[in-house]
Amino acid sequence: MDMPVPNAAVIAKKEHVVARLAEVLPESAVIQDPAETRAYECDALAAYRCPPMAAVLPGSTAEVAAVLRICHEEGVPVVPRGSGTSLAGGAMPTADSVILGVARLNRVLEVDYDNRIIRVEAGRTNLSVTGAVEAEGFFYAPDPSSQLACAIAGNIAMNSGGAHCLKYGVTTNNLLGVTLVAMDGTVVEIGGAYMDAGGYDWLGVICGSEGQLGVVTEATLRILPRPEGARPVLMGFDSSEVAGACVADIIKAGVLPVAIEFMDRPCIRATEAFAGAGYPDCEALLIVEVEGSPAEIDEQLGLIKQIARRHDPVELRESGSEAESAAIWKGRKSAFGAMGQLGDYMCLDGTIPVSALPHVLRRIGEMSAEFGLGVANVFHAGDGNMHPLILFDANTPGDLERCEAFGAAILKLCVEVGGCLTGEHGVGIEKRDLMGVQFDPVDLEAQMRVKDVFDPGWLLNPAKVFPLEASAGRRAGQVAFRPLLPCGQFTPEDIWSQKKHDETGDGDRAGRGGGGCGGAVAHSGRGHAAGGSPGRGRGAVGGAAVGGGALRAGRADAGGARGHAAGRGRAGAGR
Ligand SMILES: Cc1cc2nc3c(=O)[nH]c(=O)nc-3n(C[C@H](O)[C@H](O)[C@H](O)COP(=O)(O)OP(=O)(O)OC[C@H]3O[C@@H](n4cnc5c(N)ncnc54)[C@H](O)[C@@H]3O)c2cc1C
Repeated sequence: MDMPVPNAAVIAKKEHVVARLAEVLPESAVIQDPAETRAYECDALAAYRCPPMAAVLPGSTAEVAAVLRICHEEGVPVVPRGSGTSLAGGAMPTADSVILGVARLNRVLEVDYDNRIIRVEAGRTNLSVTGAVEAEGFFYAPDPSSQLACAIAGNIAMNSGGAHCLKYGVTTNNLLGVTLVAMDGTVVEIGGAYMDAGGYDWLGVICGSEGQLGVVTEATLRILPRPEGARPVLMGFDSSEVAGACVADIIKAGVLPVAIEFMDRPCIRATEAFAGAGYPDCEALLIVEVEGSPAEIDEQLGLIKQIARRHDPVELRESGSEAESAAIWKGRKSAFGAMGQLGDYMCLDGTIPVSALPHVLRRIGEMSAEFGLGVANVFHAGDGNMHPLILFDANTPGDLERCEAFGAAILKLCVEVGGCLTGEHGVGIEKRDLMGVQFDPVDLEAQMRVKDVFDPGWLLNPAKVFPLEASAGRRAGQVAFRPLLPCGQFTPEDIWSQKKHDETGDGDRAGRGGGGCGGAVAHSGRGHAAGGSPGRGRGAVGGAAVGGGALRAGRADAGGARGHAAGRGRAGAGR
């Protein structure tokens, strides 16, 4: 994996930069000793490592702004970091960068049960958001498997999903507002404690922007009342393709389970050895869970079992108690840990239209033989979010490269069948060089111009998302910011003035700003936006650029896998 050559001039002034940072932060919040910066050398894509020049842990929005102002003035790249669980290398630093960790920003700022919202600092972990409201019978819906550790900041940056997002949508569908600090230290409020804030859909742009547009310090999230009940059914099949076809039929029938999870034989075997969940000995299994009142659950499960029977399941086990439900979920929840016991693996993340599941699963099996590496599949099947785990041995020379080539072939297949490169893990460094598979140079240029607007100096997480050769000029400061359309000067101030525009009705500036961005997005949506829903985005950027799959190759292109999810421009499709 190539990373840009670190800027020697920046590294040379480390002492000076650290001294300035120490002026605005408590002593313990500035980490510069190489023995300590090692803790920040990678995220969960641990195959690639590089300690940062320094790490800082600000404790307030004002401190984040002060840090960014200094780094902006000094020309120092900044890599925002939540909990470091990114599987795409999104939080991996470069040697000339400062890691800005938000772990100390973990307070609950406000809970409003009447309006079903919670406002938290962005370093708060996902699960502890639910923890703050569960006593009152509420929960925060997006549930990445890493939810015990990952932070809301990282969830917003990656637009994270989880097993139960089939029904409730992903982060973007549960996010109402953010406090964002721009690279120059400007603090901006985007959205708020209500649906669909006025003006352009900046929130849709920020959610999924992989720490490249600003640092999120606070978030307003939607909380939901716990459903009356939930019940899973376990289905075993004698082929992965048949299990895939069953998923496609359930979705086609219009039932909306809260989760449809898929595991194939290698994964079932590993989890049985690890967790002993009592899974059947079969080629593939599905866990389908529905929610509601007992009558609603009976009706939905009745239909789902009827569909499953058409595919000759080798097992159809409906939970009859809390204990049985826990047993059904036990294996799935321990699947990643169980696979880790088998050795090294790389977890991929791509989306496909659900109807393509049987074909894609068959091709992955064939490719496993072609590349000579084992693969296990465990994923959120209901929304076509594939997570093939490629098994390799990091100590065998050439295995990692073979694994990467296999992974790239799978992701290309996802794009080929009408899906996209990432469902929920993001592009980061992992899929950066595959962006050209999904986007042509015009698309990429338009997307990079969105970053130009927010971060003209390309200092925020600059080595991620875009192929290095495509972003080289900008990272080197050789491509000056310019408006896309010759319709006026469209500067970052135009964007920040949007809120003011909402309040004052100052149509001229905001109108021109919108025009510029609209031009950008017309390109980026091209060719890929069909599955997404540009029409849902109220604003140009939200509706087309990001909804069309701009900054993250993810959600918008997934062929409506999450078509039920209401919301902003990016909500058009799946994870
Ligand atoms: C075992 C395991 C299971 C996982 N399961 C899932 C899953 O089910 N669903 C899923 O979606 N993901 C999953 N992930 C991936 C990962 O947990 C998510 O991407 C998560 O949202 C990352 O959160 P984090 O706080 O760890 O972010 P980090 O890894 O610290 O950072 C991720 C990205 O966010 C940016 N960022 C961090 N903080 C900020 C900020 N304050 N402002 C702006 N940008 C910021 C970073 O620069 C980086 O690009 C899993 C990971 C692991 C290890």
